[in-house]
Amino acid sequence: MRDFAYARAGTAESVVGTLADPGTSVIAGGTELLNWFRLGIAAADNVVDIGGLDELRGIATDGDDLRIGALATLNEIGEHPLVTQAASALASACLQAASAQIRNRATIGGNVLQRTRCPYFRAEEPLPWPCSKRDPGSGCASLAGRHERQAIFGWTQDCVAVQPSDPAVALAMLDAQADVLGPAGPRTIPMRDFHLTQREAAEAGQPMRETRLEPGELITGYRLPASADGQAYVKVRERASYEYAIVSAAAAVRLEAGQRIAAARVALGSVAQRPWRLTSAEAELPGTPLTREALIPVIERAMADAAPLPQNGFKVTMARNAAVRALLTAGGAS
Ligand SMILES: Cc1cc2nc3c(=O)[nH]c(=O)nc-3n(C[C@H](O)[C@H](O)[C@H](O)COP(=O)(O)OP(=O)(O)OC[C@H]3O[C@@H](n4cnc5c(N)ncnc54)[C@H](O)[C@@H]3O)c2cc1C
Repeated sequence: MRDFAYARAGTAESVVGTLADPGTSVIAGGTELLNWFRLGIAAADNVVDIGGLDELRGIATDGDDLRIGALATLNEIGEHPLVTQAASALASACLQAASAQIRNRATIGGNVLQRTRCPYFRAEEPLPWPCSKRDPGSGCASLAGRHERQAIFGWTQDCVAVQPSDPAVALAMLDAQADVLGPAGPRTIPMRDFHLTQREAAEAGQPMRETRLEPGELITGYRLPASADGQAYVKVRERASYEYAIVSAAAAVRLEAGQRIAAARVALGSVAQRPWRLTSAEAELPGTPLTREALIPVIERAMADAAPLPQNGFKVTMARNAAVRALLTAGGAS
């Protein structure tokens, strides 16, 4: 662990000013950042603590939107009545993340900025193998080694990692927007486009970029449009608590007469470096009966471009089943 200077932030605006210095990091709950420092994934000379900024707190309605401050913890969000009523997929995703102790510290601002759990990436420095995220251009040890938990969409030869956040999948499915404050002022980023696959980043000429957040920008909160649709978040993992998803799915469903779908949204998690909205399924689902038999072919068509690695073909079937289960649960059929 290297030494760093610590300071408490006075205002969100003053934080944005200090972030112009690339040697400065903000810290919220610290459940990710301090691990990065320990492992040598990141280093900073100055750490600015945003944990005391009341302007980044709170969960409230704002007109038709639900607004969640960036400092809201996963437990606060998961248990808040406004979230359980209007965004139950998000509440469920938060409560299925990590452990109770971590959820009491982990903020929703830091959560979407967490990095992959790929063990080749998370190793302590000096790394004994190539990892393009740690040493750009060095290659991907996971591709030649173990990769059963890695991506089935959007990966490149440089990196096959997935983004492991649970809440990000629900935020993308619910068409949430991130409110961001940066040197150029405030702006919003749609959560369905917040993260980048390796392929998207490479096409943009920045192969190791992971999000659309610009250097120096602070997430101040999230805005979710009101929704009366039934919702669900399904997380498939090796044990029922304190475990990352192998795959996950978030869904929202509105029904018409006769148990047919009027409108549906569905996103997969842990299948790519971004939450994976199944937009072609969403276009096809209206009019479809809410049954497993009717849903499976629609989801399979929407996942036809999956490109599994030699060891993770099982994730295609598992993700399909998670999506079907999330839709059935959201529609009240299971
Ligand atoms: C053992 C363990 C298990 C976990 N299991 C899960 C799980 O199952 N599912 C899941 O989804 N997550 C899981 N997590 C991840 C956890 O939820 C995140 O570590 C946490 O939400 C990060 O929030 P934080 O406030 O601690 O971020 P910090 O560690 O404080 O910051 C993380 C990064 O985000 C930046 N940052 C923080 N807040 C802001 C902001 N408002 N604006 C801009 N940048 C910001 C920091 O500068 C830093 O780069 C787990 C974590 C641990 C340690």
